[in-house]
Amino acid sequence: MHLHWFRSDLRIHDNTSLDAAASQESVLALYILTPKQWQQHDDAPCKVDFWRRQLIELSQQLDRLNIPLLIRHCDTWQQVPDLLLELCQQYQITQVHCNAEYGVNERKRDAATQHLLQQYHIGFKHYLDQLLFEPGSITSKSGGYFKVFGQFKRVCQQRLYDQIPAILPAPKAQAKLFIAADPIAATLADFTLTGAFAKLDQSSIDSIAAQWPVGETQAMQVLDDFCADPILDYEHARDMPALAGVSQISPYINAGIVSVRQCLQAAIDAADGELFGANEGINTWITQLLWREFYQHILVGFPQVSQHQPFKAHTKKLPWRNAPDDLACWQQGQTGFPIIDAAMRQLQQTGWMHNRLRMIVAMFLSKNLLIDWRLGEQWFMQHLIDGDLAANNGGWQWSASTGTDSVPYFRIFNPITQSQKIDPEGTFIRHWLPALAHLDNKSIHAPHLSRNVQASALDYPLPIVDLKQSRERALQAFSGLKA
Ligand SMILES: Cc1cc2nc3c(=O)[nH]c(=O)nc-3n(C[C@H](O)[C@H](O)[C@H](O)COP(=O)(O)OP(=O)(O)OC[C@H]3O[C@@H](n4cnc5c(N)ncnc54)[C@H](O)[C@@H]3O)c2cc1C
Repeated sequence: MHLHWFRSDLRIHDNTSLDAAASQESVLALYILTPKQWQQHDDAPCKVDFWRRQLIELSQQLDRLNIPLLIRHCDTWQQVPDLLLELCQQYQITQVHCNAEYGVNERKRDAATQHLLQQYHIGFKHYLDQLLFEPGSITSKSGGYFKVFGQFKRVCQQRLYDQIPAILPAPKAQAKLFIAADPIAATLADFTLTGAFAKLDQSSIDSIAAQWPVGETQAMQVLDDFCADPILDYEHARDMPALAGVSQISPYINAGIVSVRQCLQAAIDAADGELFGANEGINTWITQLLWREFYQHILVGFPQVSQHQPFKAHTKKLPWRNAPDDLACWQQGQTGFPIIDAAMRQLQQTGWMHNRLRMIVAMFLSKNLLIDWRLGEQWFMQHLIDGDLAANNGGWQWSASTGTDSVPYFRIFNPITQSQKIDPEGTFIRHWLPALAHLDNKSIHAPHLSRNVQASALDYPLPIVDLKQSRERALQAFSGLKA
């Protein structure tokens, strides 16, 4: 008997490990609930709920393939090796298959599991699935990991010209096994009621859940709708948060409901089979998939970044402010800068934020407020339905100018001019800040500066910092560091 262990690959189509396991005589599937571990990783409740909902879907799909899904529960990954050994012995499993995950703790967990299983002559195999290229295989001439995205991208592009990774079909149904799948709905319902996430506000989880339906069909629909048209103008529309200019596929990629190969192929199909062809929108979107790839490779090449360390070591000495009140205003969308506050409310109410806004709010926190980027990184992880260690860390370190290939410290976005540029009519702001909905297109970006508005009479805070002074403070803090 073989076992496929599901982790962040909650799908049956184009699943490398599941395909390999199912090519054997008989296969069982496993998912392990590890609530304490998830809490240690700051996984957002809406994201855990997304996994839970997708597991229910997945169990129904597996049922049709006669692959029983077993659900096991342990607090942290430390207990995983023993749990797997016991399971293998119970079901006479000779080989465990899974798709590789690249975080430090994930790799430690897998190494410990492999080590223990080997002692009992049980095989443990992991596969490249989350990424297009094996970390460590896209390197500079001297053999090191690239630190600059442009160089990394060029090598990836060349590899893709050589070969586009193939997409695997779902496994065929196997003969019925005399093993019952776990009663999934009951197991998972019980988990959410009694588990570590019980204290959470169920109504806000439910409201976010309604915005992000699960299922492979749903994920493919999101991808197909985007590739049918919006992708063609992605290059221009992707910076405008009021437009449907981006795919919103990130929660599905990160939970593994759709694979990166399926995303790449959909983009190539939209370009009539051409890779990096004439349409700049499609090319830019594929480049974003490579940014995702880049940050995962960085995580493996420079694991310190995911252990609360900046990539640029000298930025460890930055004099971050201890300013809990300012941090709270940023978190709650009460800074007095409409574009920042609208974005932070989008995050709280949808579990997702537009990429341009992620950059603007991250830069505002780390530069204008001079608050440690790690606090922002943590808040994002605790709220994002697409929270991903590598991309989140990469995005935060890019914005804070502490990371690989990050923005130069002196290029600080001004939230007012950014707002005028990316939301010229204030459509996005009006949606998330109804208290400002009546303002004209000019005043809405900075009500406190407008002659037409009595800012103190609005049900909206005055700015918590002076943009000019806070910019100077950030420049001084950074220029004082010796690289
Ligand atoms: C401060 C900050 C934090 C971020 N945190 C996360 C995170 O936790 N999880 C996450 O998936 N992305 C994160 N990103 C990257 C990016 O914002 C999201 O991937 C994107 O907004 C998701 O929306 P989408 O699917 O519509 O993206 P699209 O614009 O449609 O792009 C398609 C896909 O490409 C990938 N991608 C796009 N931009 C980036 C990028 N800059 N870095 C890495 N991958 C990218 C994503 O997988 C995305 O789904 C962060 C960016 C910043 C600046």
